[in-house]
Amino acid sequence: MFKKSLVVCTFLFIVSGCVYRDEPAPRIADSPVSSEPKLTKPRIVEPSPTRRRVAASVPRDWFPPANLEKKWKAIVVHHSATGNGNAAIFDKWHREGNHWDGVGYDFVIGNGTDSADGLVEVTFRWREQKTGAHCGGTPGNWANEDAVGICLVGDYNNTIPTARQMQSLAKLTRFLQRRYRIPASRIYGHNTTPGARTTDCPGRNFPMARFKSMVDG
Ligand SMILES: [Zn+2]
Repeated sequence: MFKKSLVVCTFLFIVSGCVYRDEPAPRIADSPVSSEPKLTKPRIVEPSPTRRRVAASVPRDWFPPANLEKKWKAIVVHHSATGNGNAAIFDKWHREGNHWDGVGYDFVIGNGTDSADGLVEVTFRWREQKTGAHCGGTPGNWANEDAVGICLVGDYNNTIPTARQMQSLAKLTRFLQRRYRIPASRIYGHNTTPGARTTDCPGRNFPMARFKSMVDG
């Protein structure tokens, strides 16, 4: 009888021991990050090792939301053809004057008039990864679909970009080049964009050769 009880007790101990070991460990003290469902976490883009050096030095809002990000293939540079302006002003013009859904560009680089000299403003179009309205204006235009539109505030038929505008433009362009593997041959002024309407944008004085020397090959 004693022997039988011992066997039963041993069996129960082993079984209960196994059951105990198989139970998941209590997670109450775990960090919220590991216990949160994945979908509720913010979708932050994690740069690959080769991009980390660039990523560390650029503003966070240059990174589009990971779940919306498109595969951009080219970059088109514009001037505003105005002496002053900023993203909010162009947004108003493009909504009210052109009846677009907002400013046509993805980025606007200030010249010190209505935004700081060299300040890169990120528009709703980049944040939402929407098709652009900066090159041709037709929905099927390849550049609106596939090219990032960057506008520098200024009229470069009469003036030239400021040094800070050029530095910001080059930095933003290099960031985009590395992120989307865009070669210098696919960086255009509006006027040299294949299929674009005839235009003098980004202005007769825009230093395209110098700009190309400031970006990746
Ligand atoms: Zn243009």
